[in-house]
Amino acid sequence: MGKSALITGASRGIGRAIAEALAGEGMDLYLLCHNNIEMLDELACRLTERYSISCHTFCGDVADSEFIDMVFSNIDSLDVLINNAGISHIGLLQDMTNEEWNKIINTNLSGVFYCCRAAIPLMLSSHSGRIINISSMWGSVGASMEVAYSTTKGGMNSFTKALAKELAPSNIVVNAIACGVIDTDMNSCFNDEEMSDLINDIPIGRLGKPSEVAQVVLELASAPEYMTGQIIGMDGGYI
Ligand code: NAP
Repeated sequence: MGKSALITGASRGIGRAIAEALAGEGMDLYLLCHNNIEMLDELACRLTERYSISCHTFCGDVADSEFIDMVFSNIDSLDVLINNAGISHIGLLQDMTNEEWNKIINTNLSGVFYCCRAAIPLMLSSHSGRIINISSMWGSVGASMEVAYSTTKGGMNSFTKALAKELAPSNIVVNAIACGVIDTDMNSCFNDEEMSDLINDIPIGRLGKPSEVAQVVLELASAPEYMTGQIIGMDGGYI
């Protein structure tokens, strides 16, 4: 039987590039999104045809534990879990509402918990597995105007390190990729001037590409098991 992977937030951006890369390795895929199911189904059709793999798509909120449990009730075995779905929130902390705070915490952090909790029993039964969390450089150094986002990614980094220790005896590897500024819809809120200022701060002088993050995912998916609990920087030298 071929290997399989589940990717959250696979309809666009980094998750979509990861789906393309893992499909290229011949993995069967479970792809999740929140709203853009047509986009996700189109991707699934293309990958199925091109790589002769199976692709299952699901549309719902990662912050909804019942949705995640429903998705996993359709899965018998899983080799790789990519926790990628996430949202940002830009603004002063003092202006943030309870709803905005809860939404970002539940999406970026609780969603990761729900997916890991459901994936671990499948991985334990094969005494192997890879969990890769898509984090941010702001999780280690913090960003002004992105306090809640930085909090979720800092939490994700600690989650990664702690879970890696808990699962190492079971041969399940847990790592995170701390991305810098990657060229996706998530940064479409910045105008040209803000984007140019942002790029000026990146030593390599450009945004990262989703395909570059996907390349690191492929490497982590096949790296030695001894490499676990790591937060891999992928930020063009920013930090
Ligand atoms: P993106 O282009 O905005 O895509 C976000 C993806 O997540 C979409 O597939 C979206 O589905 C899905 N999603 C959002 N909220 C969801 C929810 N509540 N339930 C289920 N799926 C949900 O974002 P991206 O830039 O690729 O970001 C992917 C990950 O990388 C995020 O965790 C982000 O924090 C992290 N990251 C990004 C950057 C960057 O500069 N882009 C930097 C560091 C870290 P729909 O299409 O259906 O809405």
